[in-house]
Amino acid sequence: MDNNRFTGLKMNICTCFILLAFVSCDSFRKEAEPDNESQNNYAVMVRLCLEDNKISTEWKKALTRRHSKQFLDSLSQVKRPLTDEENKWYELITSRAEYWNQLKDSLRVPFGDIYINDSTYVFLGYLGSNDGFTYQYQTVCFDLTALQKTYGSANDPVNTNRIDRLFAHEYTHLLSKEWARQNELKLNNYQDSILWECIYEGIGMYRSMSARWFPVGDSLSEISARTFETLYPTFSERLTTIMTAEQLSDSDKERLHKRLSHGPMTQKWGALPVGVWLAMEAKGNDMNLRKWVEKGPDAIIPLGSKYLTGESKIRFDSVFGETQAEKR
Ligand SMILES: [Zn+2]
Repeated sequence: MDNNRFTGLKMNICTCFILLAFVSCDSFRKEAEPDNESQNNYAVMVRLCLEDNKISTEWKKALTRRHSKQFLDSLSQVKRPLTDEENKWYELITSRAEYWNQLKDSLRVPFGDIYINDSTYVFLGYLGSNDGFTYQYQTVCFDLTALQKTYGSANDPVNTNRIDRLFAHEYTHLLSKEWARQNELKLNNYQDSILWECIYEGIGMYRSMSARWFPVGDSLSEISARTFETLYPTFSERLTTIMTAEQLSDSDKERLHKRLSHGPMTQKWGALPVGVWLAMEAKGNDMNLRKWVEKGPDAIIPLGSKYLTGESKIRFDSVFGETQAEKR
C-alpha cells in the first residue's frame, strides 16, 4: 500500500528532505481544526487535491517519486469530477479526521520518545491504483479511486474501521520515518534496505491487519498458522539468500524482494509475519514493542529466530545462528 524508494530500491521509505511548501488553494478543504484539549496541539487536516477537476499540483508532487514524469503528465491531463462513490470515501475520511488526531498519541507508543511534532495532513487524490502511501514527513495520502476499487463502497460499515486501520498503518510509516531521521539510520546496501522494509512494513501491518490475524493467547490465530505454512519457508529462504549471497544481479534483487510487502495479503512474506510477531510480542500492550522498534532493521533476525518453526527455523539458524541472533 505504500511504495517509496530508498537507496535505489523501490521501497516504502521516505527519502525526501525538502520541506513541503503549502500552496493556498480554494479546493483544499480544511476539515478538522486543532484540538487544543488533546495531548497534542496539532490537527489532522484533510485536503482534497483536485483543481479544476484535475489532480492538483500538490498531489502531483506527492506522486513524483513514485511514477515517471511521462505517467504524471498524462495523469494531469485527465479531467473529471469525483464520482459519487469517490465522494463518499472523501466524506468518510473527513468524518474520521478528528478521531485520527486523538489516535496519534496511542500510535506513537512503540516509538518511545519519538513523535511527530507537527500537524498531519491527509491528501486525497484520485485516478490512481495505490490506495494509501506517505509523502515526506507529515502527510498521509489516500487515492479515492483505488479505495473504491479495492474495498467497495465507503458506506459499507466494515470500511469505517478499515479506513481507521489504513490511516494507522500510514501514520505509523510517518513515525518510522521520523525514527529513522532522528536516529540517523543509514541503509548502505540492498541487504540493509530489505531488513528495514521488513520492520517498517511489519509494524505498519501490525496497525492495519484485521483482528483475525492477531494471536489468540500465546498462539497464532488459525488463519495466521495456515498462512505461515507457506510464508515461513519463503521468509527463511529469501532472507538467508539475501543476507549470504556473494553477488546478486538486479533481477535477483527484484525477484527476492517481490511480495515482501506488496501483493495479496497472504503472500506478503516480510510484512505479514513480522506484523503478527509484533502482535505476539505486544500481548496487547504497545509498550512491549519499544525494544523491537529501537533495534530498527536489527530486529528482524532475532524475531525470525524466535518465531520461525520447523525446517524454516533450522535453515534460518544455520545461517544466522540462534545464539548470535538472540544477542543482537
Ligand atoms: Zn505500508
